Amino acid sequence: MTKTTTRTLRPRTLSVRAGTARTGFSETSEAIFMNSGFVYATAEEAEQSFDGTLDRMVYSRFKNPTVAMFEDRLAAIEGAEACRATASGMAAVHAAILCQLKAGDRVVAPRALFGSCTWIINDLLPRFGVLPVFVDGTDLDQWRAALAQPTAVVFLETPSNPTLEIIDLSAVAELAHKAGAKVVVDNVFATPILQSPLHLGADVVVYSATKHIDGQGRCLGGAILGSAEFCNDVLGPYLRHTGPALSPFNAWTLLKGLETLDLRIERHCANALKVATFLESRPEIARVLYPGLTSHPQHDLAKRQMTGFGGIVAFALKGGKDAAYTLLNGLDVIDISNNLGDAKSLACHPWTTTHQRLSPEAKQAQGITEGLIRLSVGLEDADDLIDDLALALEKVL
Ligand SMILES: *Cc1c(COP(=O)(O)O)cnc(C)c1O
Repeated sequence: MTKTTTRTLRPRTLSVRAGTARTGFSETSEAIFMNSGFVYATAEEAEQSFDGTLDRMVYSRFKNPTVAMFEDRLAAIEGAEACRATASGMAAVHAAILCQLKAGDRVVAPRALFGSCTWIINDLLPRFGVLPVFVDGTDLDQWRAALAQPTAVVFLETPSNPTLEIIDLSAVAELAHKAGAKVVVDNVFATPILQSPLHLGADVVVYSATKHIDGQGRCLGGAILGSAEFCNDVLGPYLRHTGPALSPFNAWTLLKGLETLDLRIERHCANALKVATFLESRPEIARVLYPGLTSHPQHDLAKRQMTGFGGIVAFALKGGKDAAYTLLNGLDVIDISNNLGDAKSLACHPWTTTHQRLSPEAKQAQGITEGLIRLSVGLEDADDLIDDLALALEKVL
């Protein structure tokens, strides 16, 4: 297979071309290698492939040509030394955290996290003797206090799901490194287009590629990016032996998703700002949370560490759960769905869906109220989305 040279190209070009490894058939689009294993010409070649003297693929749980193209392209866009793909975003979060930990370690994280991330840190880790410590992610004093002791891992999302809190990545990374911790950032809401955590001091970035990277509701996938040393020596063995491998078909779907990611994110951001501005003008709505609005409490910080504000908007209806349900049930174009980052606009009620399993107190501590709706603004015409919301809002008393 022959590879395109990508070293000096710009991100938009890398999104389309990086990682491409053509076969002898000289195909335009990347090939799908839907194989689990590989064959050897001789028993000696098999032996050398396993003892490492021969650098070649031996099994798709370890490495596969289509998966490798996805990994190489995403690493090039992110500006990371290395990338490892996984079967889902949660597989990526799980492996990125667990591969670094042992009993007795401490993990510090903000309270505002995706529900399954909270479960891993709060419920799973303590079973193996790892101590979780939670802070208010927007309060640097709480980070400072929590990181005054030696810590193994800091895990955070910014912007957070669903309340779009922004965490100061450089400040937290500096505190974390003083405590000896590696900083793992779930960059799903920002995408590699809008925020580069590795350039702001983070050590590892994880994605649910299911979200914007596919962006068209077709498949699950995940990715972990960091230094070559981390990916090869710390994460590599963990993935190889626990096996959360990405399907080559899904890798191909995600690879094609990367080609249009930059274009789609531009439209997601423009649409989300229009929709958020409209929602802010409505009397039925108590509060709109979107980092691109000057009313967002961390708008200035968002402007500093992001190049755009993303496609997710959250808003709280004054009428609580009844009003939220009336609005959701009154939508015609926008679908009710817990997915996000899709071409189609999707809305959900976090209190009763994505964050249902949390106690009412835990929800409130994250700013999730009964009237809160999370809206993933899609690629439709923004005016049709605004009309749809306006018609549904008319039904809300
Ligand atoms: C969706 C999501 C995940 C999990 O990804 P899956 O691909 O669904 O496993 C993790 N973190 C965040 C912030 C998410 O939005």
